[in-house]
Amino acid sequence: MTPIYLDYAATTPVDPHVAEAMAACLTLEGNFANPASRSHRYGWMAEEAVENARGQLAKALHCDSREIVWTSGATESNNLAIKGVCDLHESGHIITSAIEHKAVLDVCAHLEQKGFRVTYLQPQASGCISVEQVANAMADDTILVSLMYVNNELGSINPIADIAKLCQQKDVLLHVDGAQALGKVDVNVERDGIDFLSISSHKFYGPKGMGALFVKRGRKINAQIHGGGHERGMRSGTLATHQIVGMGLAAEMATAQLSQEEARLSALKQTLITGLQALEGVAINGDNTVANITNISFADVDGESLLLSLHDLAVSSGSACNSATMAPSYVLKAIGLDDELAHASIRFSMGRFTTEHDINQAVVSVTTAVQRLRAMTA
Ligand SMILES: *Cc1c(COP(=O)(O)O)cnc(C)c1O
Repeated sequence: MTPIYLDYAATTPVDPHVAEAMAACLTLEGNFANPASRSHRYGWMAEEAVENARGQLAKALHCDSREIVWTSGATESNNLAIKGVCDLHESGHIITSAIEHKAVLDVCAHLEQKGFRVTYLQPQASGCISVEQVANAMADDTILVSLMYVNNELGSINPIADIAKLCQQKDVLLHVDGAQALGKVDVNVERDGIDFLSISSHKFYGPKGMGALFVKRGRKINAQIHGGGHERGMRSGTLATHQIVGMGLAAEMATAQLSQEEARLSALKQTLITGLQALEGVAINGDNTVANITNISFADVDGESLLLSLHDLAVSSGSACNSATMAPSYVLKAIGLDDELAHASIRFSMGRFTTEHDINQAVVSVTTAVQRLRAMTA
């Protein structure tokens, strides 16, 4: 039996409509040309497709097309935004949180080596960072705040609009890692006043290896990849027409389906939670969460045994595979879980192709596994 896929926060399958649009941009008969080729029709057509996709993504984010920079994914976008801002300074202070994605934390660690100061805010039990926390951390030399919109392990949603307001008052730039946000929350960079927003195509049914950085008009960053001066000098390299076309369509579809999917997945989430709460010792990690992510810990079971028992479910555990050992999730530890409970936590992340049947099956599998493991140790 193929496992039920409940790991949409790790990645999503490409939507069949997106795959079709991408396939039409590969071969000689299709739209394969270099969008930078100005001297022939092939190039013009590719450029038109790229600019159409840029418009689709801009509409989804509520910005201007000229504020979109194509990248290889949210990892690159985070690097470009944070290093791109800091490159314009000799030193300074950055505010981020302890539960950011590694693509932000590792960049900040790198900048610490180069002499920048970094404050890592500890999340509240909900998994959120409050405006007050950010306000209290502000210093005279703060140049950048970098916080995620939606946490990838918990699904918790940060009060980005309020944090943006504070940053504007303090004249500090705000970068938001929005990889888990598009299609899940109503992202609107204009309304919220965000300066930089990282986006990842494969989190919303587009291809992997594709992303974008929203750069608000007038905001300066240093390029991190030089050569050719594409994307107004901010990110060089021949544009991958098929990837871009896929991402543009995926963004349009994800935002068009947002409210409907949110309602459908909220109901499924409630089914999952209610079903699992029939067990004792079940706790939901994080609060104020998106509809598609639920992180649950199970007391009195061994995490590794639990995951092994759930071979019919494709889920993520509260353990990160290091080279030799399993380390408990730094996100779960930061919101107060001990090592044992962090290991015995599961992230269920649902998506476009998740059915009620899948969720009912997941409840049965987890319930059976937890009861069996508890009976063995009782
Ligand atoms: C997936 C993810 C990333 C990395 O995105 P890639 O496109 O895979 O590089 C960064 N931040 C968050 C919050 C993510 O969920």
